[in-house]
Amino acid sequence: MADLLGRAILAVTERKPVRRTITNTRPGKAVARRFVAGETLDEAMAVAAELVAAGCEVSLDHLGEHVSDRAEAERSRDDYLACLDRIGESGLPANISVKLTQLGMGLDNALAATSLDQLAVRAAAVGTTVTVDMEESEYTETTISLYEQAQRDHGNLGIAVQAYMHRTKADLDRLIPLGGHIRLCKGAYAEPADVAVQSNDEVDAMFDSLLALLMHSPATKPAIASHDDERIDLAKSLIEHRSEPYEFQMLYGVRGPMQRELVAASYPLRIYVPYGVAWYPYLTRRLAERPANVLFFLRALAGRR
Ligand SMILES: Cc1cc2nc3c(=O)[nH]c(=O)nc-3n(C[C@H](O)[C@H](O)[C@H](O)COP(=O)(O)OP(=O)(O)OC[C@H]3O[C@@H](n4cnc5c(N)ncnc54)[C@H](O)[C@@H]3O)c2cc1C
Repeated sequence: MADLLGRAILAVTERKPVRRTITNTRPGKAVARRFVAGETLDEAMAVAAELVAAGCEVSLDHLGEHVSDRAEAERSRDDYLACLDRIGESGLPANISVKLTQLGMGLDNALAATSLDQLAVRAAAVGTTVTVDMEESEYTETTISLYEQAQRDHGNLGIAVQAYMHRTKADLDRLIPLGGHIRLCKGAYAEPADVAVQSNDEVDAMFDSLLALLMHSPATKPAIASHDDERIDLAKSLIEHRSEPYEFQMLYGVRGPMQRELVAASYPLRIYVPYGVAWYPYLTRRLAERPANVLFFLRALAGRR
């Protein structure tokens, strides 16, 4: 997310009256429902089952980030443990995606590390994996350090990296030897020029070179997390020369026809399915990366749909 309009949208949506309007009105909730599976685990599991029936795998994201105290961090961990148990019971091909600030990173890093351990152990017990989402740049180094430790100890994790960050190539040199799955995305936060490239063209160029690096790394499983035609086409051409596993990943509610096309052509596709009551920051990032979504919301607010 690098353009000016996206930054302006993030700045506006951070204002309290705007947040109230979106979270407390029916149109606001309706727009959220396009991108969020529901507020409960039951709703998320129902959506996951539909996606699996359509040929996809799933990553469940219990929404939340930047918790304000230890108790909240522990509740988030417990919610994820319950989610893993349900994945085990359902037998669905699903894993979890987790933000470490939701487990207390930044507040109590030791607690976040212990919780990540517990999630990895439970995930192994139900035969699945844990993906660590990447958040704002102030957390990148801690996220990677906590991931490195957990992946060395358990071996069933993966991590997201953001193509817009100047540091990502060096991070991959650390991450690739650890195996696991590595999700390459463009990056969803507003970052300054000294940490991230700013223009869409630069982000795309970074994405393409990191994608080539990952696709030529047999030790890791690359996850191509993009809805961008050109990035997907490049991935398809690189896949021709790859015999090791990989997968595409897309967000729930984004580019449904493209998702169906990939599945029809037998490409492995995992859908990122967010759920929970704390959907507001997730929704604002989806609005910011596609300003047309804001028009969709304003039309809904005006009662036209
Ligand atoms: C599975 C998955 C996991 C992710 N995890 C992270 C993470 O851990 N950390 C992080 O910083 N970012 C994450 N992202 C978000 C990512 O960084 C981008 O912000 C987002 O994917 C948009 O980039 P794009 O590659 O789809 O390309 P874009 O150029 O933004 O989009 C290409 C096309 O896709 C469609 N599209 C894209 N976004 C939307 C939208 N919101 N609404 C409607 N249509 C849209 C449009 O048709 C657009 O033209 C993740 C993305 C995916 C798919």
